[in-house]
Amino acid sequence: GSPIEQKRAEVGLELDDLIRAIRHDYPILGDVVYLDNAATSCSPEPVVEAMVEFEHRYRSNVGRGVHRFTRIATQRYWHAHEKVAEFIGAQGGITVFTKNTTEAINMVAHGLSWTPGNRVVTTILEHHSNLLPWRSLEKQGVTLDIVGIRPDYSLDMDAFRKMLEKPVRLVAITQASNVLGIITPVHEIAALCREKGVLLLIDGAQAAPHMPVNVSSIGCDFYCFSGHKLGGPTGTGVLWMKEPLLTPLMQGGGTVESVTGDDVVLIQGYEQYEAGTPNIAGGIGLGVAVDYLRKIGMDTIHSHEEDLTSRLIEGLHTIERVRVYASGNPETRIGVVSFTVEEMHPHEIAQRLDEHDILVRSGHHCCQPLMNALNLPDGTVRVSIAHYNTREEIDLFLATLKEIIAGSS
Ligand code: PLP
Repeated sequence: GSPIEQKRAEVGLELDDLIRAIRHDYPILGDVVYLDNAATSCSPEPVVEAMVEFEHRYRSNVGRGVHRFTRIATQRYWHAHEKVAEFIGAQGGITVFTKNTTEAINMVAHGLSWTPGNRVVTTILEHHSNLLPWRSLEKQGVTLDIVGIRPDYSLDMDAFRKMLEKPVRLVAITQASNVLGIITPVHEIAALCREKGVLLLIDGAQAAPHMPVNVSSIGCDFYCFSGHKLGGPTGTGVLWMKEPLLTPLMQGGGTVESVTGDDVVLIQGYEQYEAGTPNIAGGIGLGVAVDYLRKIGMDTIHSHEEDLTSRLIEGLHTIERVRVYASGNPETRIGVVSFTVEEMHPHEIAQRLDEHDILVRSGHHCCQPLMNALNLPDGTVRVSIAHYNTREEIDLFLATLKEIIAGSS
């Protein structure tokens, strides 16, 4: 059986109890089957409570002044950065809070200095947020090369290696696809980048919520992800960087040690990259969100979600007129599954599922180059799983989809 099956056998009902207990922390899940977690996931009560506590008990600014409220806010906001760094296994480096993954990637693209002829390598799997910031550098003479995928949707590593034969400044790659659920071989890619002296940015927006991540063992230079996709508040994201290689895009309050005459001395920590008053309640909530996931255990989350994903993919394969776009290998996928239905538009399917209180995403998923490569102009329907989803929800989704398709013929 799958790891979760083994765990179920070991602990009897404990894991089911765990999932049930987890669901009490998400009142929003009461009336719907929420399967759009890749877009944004739901926040558990401790995250919401931490944000409300900030508003009710110590709302104030951070890094400024000495009064009691600001001392608490500053300490908790700083501590949230520490928790997030620990969550991704960072040993050192700088962990900056951003508003989302998109902002984090743009900070790297526009914070490095480029010279004409610099090359960036990325892949066809990328979300527009890990494509357009690099494309915008083309006007500075930077060229962009895109690695494709093989028929089993895995990254074409031969093509990737070939691209590194010529000088490359930076590789920007997703750790997991938000359309196909494919996990990319980031350890292998990082080793190749190190060998060639190439900077590596990993877009962890889809990986960080669903599997253990350790930036130290990967050995990347930048790791970006969204807080709101792992139960943190909306408007939260993270940029971790091994070295402070970037010029801050904005300057102002909160970023400096001193301003004397012409001299501006930036604070050496994350503060230099977080100009102005940050999203304080959001940052503190993000710290609580990563604690919450760590308490469940990222290995447990990954294996529970894989159990649901296998059930989902197997179920989809049994429904007529459905075509699934997913890796067959459980080792290299997360719980993001795309499919199409013959003669039905993806939006129609999502709309009909919504009428049955089942929420999924449809469309191009901000991945139009991939959709074009797969010849899917209307996009796909995408089901994306989180740790709080259950087998019963997957079964209900499958039965409802079957009914919708049968009713449309
Ligand atoms: N990268 C990937 C792989 C994503 O799935 C997403 C969001 O869907 C993003 C980047 C952008 O995330 P955000 O909208 O939080 O900036």
